[in-house]
Amino acid sequence: VLFEDMKLKRELLMGIYEAGFEKPSPIQSEAIPAALKNLDILARAKNGTGKTAAFSIPILQKINTRQKHIQAVILLPTRELALQTSQVVRTLGKHLNVQVMVTTGGTSLKDDILRLHETVHIIVATPGRAVDLASRKLADLSKCSILAMDEADKLLSADFASVVKDLLQFMTDKRQIMLFSATFPVAVKDFVSNYLSKPKIINL
Ligand code: AMP
Repeated sequence: VLFEDMKLKRELLMGIYEAGFEKPSPIQSEAIPAALKNLDILARAKNGTGKTAAFSIPILQKINTRQKHIQAVILLPTRELALQTSQVVRTLGKHLNVQVMVTTGGTSLKDDILRLHETVHIIVATPGRAVDLASRKLADLSKCSILAMDEADKLLSADFASVVKDLLQFMTDKRQIMLFSATFPVAVKDFVSNYLSKPKIINL
């Protein structure tokens, strides 16, 4: 498949081509059509496979910019990865009016509060901060129906797993989860069997 055959918005295709992507990588060829059909995704993927765009492109396609609420959360285990991922989302979404916020532990909560007074469609965050914002009712995730988790093995490691599960409580039940991980320890398998339903499995 080509990006042109994926029925993507013209503005999104422009962002994809301007990013220098000519055709989908294998993981993108599998993940994007499945994600556009609202399936949960379980992908075994290493860095360098194009996994960031594999979840970012369907998320950008599905955001309804006429609605002002948070529609997707993308979780990363570190501040550095959150910043990098938010840059990819912004680059791909450059010609869409999608508003992206990045927030992680160790940054000013005050800045987040100000930012959240304006429209945010996608939050890119580390788990602790995302839960913090949701539980203080600063970020309303009640209509947020997409959760992407990159490096899920780290997101679901002992110190983080309960935080991710807490976060899900703030989101709608009719949600789509896209989970990307290089390895599948028991913690990831347990999460998958408890929270994903009939996921599209991608193993490259
Ligand atoms: P990732 O695995 O998401 O970290 O991506 C690895 C690298 O591949 C990044 O530099 C991306 O910009 C690049 N990349 C992702 N998808 C494509 C594509 N379809 N065509 C060319 N390069 C890509």
